[in-house]
Amino acid sequence: MRLLLVEDEKRMAQALYELLRLEKYQVDHFADGVDGLEAAKSGVYDIIILDVMLPGMDGCKIARVIRQTGIRTPILMLTAKAQLDDKVTGLDSGADDYLTKPFMTRELLARLRALGRRSIDAPDGTLSYGDIVLNTNTCTLSCVTNGQRVRLSEKEYRILEYLIANQRQILTREQLAVRIWGLESDAEYNNVEVYMSFTRRKLAFVEARTEIKAVRGVGYELRCGNV
Ligand code: CA
Repeated sequence: MRLLLVEDEKRMAQALYELLRLEKYQVDHFADGVDGLEAAKSGVYDIIILDVMLPGMDGCKIARVIRQTGIRTPILMLTAKAQLDDKVTGLDSGADDYLTKPFMTRELLARLRALGRRSIDAPDGTLSYGDIVLNTNTCTLSCVTNGQRVRLSEKEYRILEYLIANQRQILTREQLAVRIWGLESDAEYNNVEVYMSFTRRKLAFVEARTEIKAVRGVGYELRCGNV
């Protein structure tokens, strides 16, 4: 299991790092919130241990951004404060569990085992909406109701990833162009339309009920059936 540890207190980080390595976890450690978030976005981790008070960006904000990005890696939040408010904020922001410092080693390990099981149930690197599942590791799209699967090109993948991360919102052509082709790119907006049609073909290929709906004059959104 690969674990991301974001903790700025040196002694705590060192102790946790050694303990987790002894328990056969592969551990990457960051002390800064922004660096930790960047690492988390890679989507390669099975569990993320996140301190709340961090330089750069606080743990609650990091958890929120991770969830907005569509990454569902289980998050265990650590905090020095035992206040209920912190706990509520932490869980609201997308953390799965919560541990108050100081904690017992065996308590931490028990929580990690529980989260690890959850991570296997909902494998890291998948995004889902309606009846479709996107696998980040294999760049494939599959339909959960019939098990059909297809490989996506990089752009098709990024279009679906962006739409799923922003479900229930209409994304404009401009947002899509910037997101998929980048700010400096002079990609024409009709590139968006061309790739939308490729992506729709892939959805049709796996016979998904989920569709990319064009909202005239505005942009696109994902819809599943009549939802
Ligand atoms: Ca801290």
